[in-house]
Amino acid sequence: MNVLEFTAKGIYCPAADVYLDPWQPVKKALITHGHSDHARWGHEQYLCTIAAEPIIKHRLQLTDNIQSVAFGEKVMINGVQFSFHPAGHIPGSAQIRVELNGEVWVFSGDYKLQHDGLSEPFEPVKCHAFITESTFGLPVYAWQPQADVFDDVNRWWRKSQEEGKVAVLAGYALGKSQRILKNVDATLGKIMVHGAIETVTNIFREQGMTLPPTVRVVPEMKRADFEGALVICPPSAIGSPWLRKFEPFSLGIASGWMGLRGTRRRRGADRGFVLSDHADWRELNLAVRETGAEKVFVTHGYSEIFARWLTEHGLDAREVKTQYEGELSEMAEATAAEDKALEA
Ligand SMILES: [Zn+2]
Ligand SMILES: [Zn+2]
Repeated sequence: MNVLEFTAKGIYCPAADVYLDPWQPVKKALITHGHSDHARWGHEQYLCTIAAEPIIKHRLQLTDNIQSVAFGEKVMINGVQFSFHPAGHIPGSAQIRVELNGEVWVFSGDYKLQHDGLSEPFEPVKCHAFITESTFGLPVYAWQPQADVFDDVNRWWRKSQEEGKVAVLAGYALGKSQRILKNVDATLGKIMVHGAIETVTNIFREQGMTLPPTVRVVPEMKRADFEGALVICPPSAIGSPWLRKFEPFSLGIASGWMGLRGTRRRRGADRGFVLSDHADWRELNLAVRETGAEKVFVTHGYSEIFARWLTEHGLDAREVKTQYEGELSEMAEATAAEDKALEA
């Protein structure tokens, strides 16, 4: 019996009879973070970090069937020891460490190594077997330092103001939007947000995070209310009638996929900012090395290619099929919205 197994319902620990980020309803689920491909509806019991709990509770409308633990706190379930360690992906996100009879496995969930100024910084965890994502597991993905990206965002915002345009920046509602808020130059002007983003941001504020003031965009507002503003919206708003009230505007998208030629044009954006909450190629390799793991399982992303690369470098690596989506989900969501707009 392995410490963890890959089943049709999700990653399973048979000794403890619990699942990690399962995609089918189960009795007990240990959840790495609140994104919808990891925290799903329908489980009987949930366990996550204290920092991730308010968001998961809100998104899944949970009441008393969720429990939480501090980072690093040890939990024993049927003789198996579990603990959650910072994944640096979004605030509260964790890697899950599982230890049984001295054998240690770590499930990374989604992660990044570059500190975003908001999430608890990624912590390497020594293990025998490491389950890693590979969303951006190709050498072409090499992120710029975050400060450089935000210099670009600030320049674009100023330029939009000079041209009499509203700067509209699309970024995922949970994690990416708050990272933008935290790092953009808030002295440049008003920051206005889509309702979906305001809700998540307020949950973070209630948890004690300091973020610049935001104004929620409401239907009654007129074009003059948006003069000189930066408007942050989820990717699903791209191509929707909601955007029209900002005209004339400049549309920016913040995503790891903006590094790919063609992606930006396909989405009709004026500017693409390469900003990802996932590890780039170098970070994936570094993370795998730092675990010291001999056995590596590669989940969502360029899993086949990345697993082969690791194998060629002396590791026992293989691809595993999961239903996690990385940043693919936000791309798919935005593309679907765009297609709908084109049909209309
Ligand atoms: Zn995620
Ligand atoms: Zn994911």
